[in-house]
Amino acid sequence: MKKWLLIALALVLALSSVAMAEDAATPKYVFMFIGDGMGNPQVAATQYYLGSIENPDSEFPVPGELSFTDFPYLGMVTTYDASSFCPDSASTATSMASGEKTLSGVLNYDVNLENSFKLITEYAKEAGKKVGVISSVSLDHATPAAYYAKVPSRSQYYDIAVQGLTGTTLDYLAGGSFLKPDGDGTQENLFELAKANGFTVANTNEAIRALDANSGRVLAIDPNTADSQSLNYEIDRVRKAAAGEDILSLADYVKAGINVLDNENGFFMMCEGGKIDWSGHANDAATSIHETIAFSDAVQVAVDFAAEHPDETLIIVTADHETGGMTIGFATTAYDTHFTYLTNQTISFTNFDAVIEQLREQNATFEDAMAEVTRYYGLTTEPDQDLSLTEADVESLKAAYELSMIPKDERKLGDEEALLYGGYEPFSMAVSHIINNKAGLSYTSYSHTGLQIPVYAMGVGAEAFSGLYDNTDIFNRTMDVMGLTK
Ligand SMILES: [Zn+2]
Repeated sequence: MKKWLLIALALVLALSSVAMAEDAATPKYVFMFIGDGMGNPQVAATQYYLGSIENPDSEFPVPGELSFTDFPYLGMVTTYDASSFCPDSASTATSMASGEKTLSGVLNYDVNLENSFKLITEYAKEAGKKVGVISSVSLDHATPAAYYAKVPSRSQYYDIAVQGLTGTTLDYLAGGSFLKPDGDGTQENLFELAKANGFTVANTNEAIRALDANSGRVLAIDPNTADSQSLNYEIDRVRKAAAGEDILSLADYVKAGINVLDNENGFFMMCEGGKIDWSGHANDAATSIHETIAFSDAVQVAVDFAAEHPDETLIIVTADHETGGMTIGFATTAYDTHFTYLTNQTISFTNFDAVIEQLREQNATFEDAMAEVTRYYGLTTEPDQDLSLTEADVESLKAAYELSMIPKDERKLGDEEALLYGGYEPFSMAVSHIINNKAGLSYTSYSHTGLQIPVYAMGVGAEAFSGLYDNTDIFNRTMDVMGLTK
């Protein structure tokens, strides 16, 4: 009897120590940050931009720190999907949310568009956690959608939103607004649908800042949305804030999310910096750098939270793919970079497009346009300045300006012009390319690339994210660390 008792005791002890070890290794709070289009070049350019501002007299380039660049564990992931080496945001977010590869454009369905996948947010919810999804772009966009919806096509915006608002997964959905709030125009309004399904709708700065654990399920919509129902570009938010406007940042939505979601069982929060990608498509380096700073500030909120909950928090920071083929170094600057030149740019390409539209309406001269270029980018026709334009620069600006002064529906672009401007406003693109190149930055594409993508991790279980692996393993490794099984 005694022997049996001893064996039983030993077993109980062994099992409980395993359980304790598992408990200790399981994060109560999981933050998943996705910088859309944020490859290593975007991170590095932002580090050297900040470093060159912080160390103006340094002989050597000094990389500044972002909130996540000193995380203790660093991995790399492959991002290809079932149809492309250069994948899109839907398939890559599907990989990270469900651990499965699919076709570009598909959200959480298999390649035959027959069976849907179960999401990490659903597993987390079943384990008792609250779930939050935040994006700086519209909430029905591919990346946020992948964490709460399953549709054969990412462009089913209304269906995506309906799944999020009528489903049971989400406790907090926040950031931009919806692209199709009334569906085809006859369908139920999404904000009414949200209220009917128990969501508190917060759509003023005051209401969003006041959110707390008593707010229940929350749909928080930015009251100052910009292009395509997204948050303002950070570079524009900063300029407008300097002029006295109060516009929420991505970090504000993470803060509000923590206030809403914190509970005794913890939470899983996905936060997307969506316009790193958009500024990459448009080859607007300064805007991209500011978007990366805003994203870093959002991660900092989680880092501060982790400092208060050190043995309970996991933070993963990664991207879905790189956008634009950004690189550091340009033919005319040889081995030099001049990142501080970009501090002269205070406007995003979309806000500058609006300036150009006004110029077109006013039938403005090229000289009028150049005054706006100097005002917002610091580029000048004065000689011997850092940002002095060469004759060739002025010629390319003139050519782009003439095209931009033709009303959009009357413009006919040849192949060469299509390549030069990528379908964007020609004058904005010409200005961006010139200031990028003077700073020592350039782009190879207006689309996504096949670059491998960094993964930064800190906190409970973070060591699991080291090494080179596939983006589907971000799902698998997060599941393992959280103690969840498929
Ligand atoms: Zn993307």
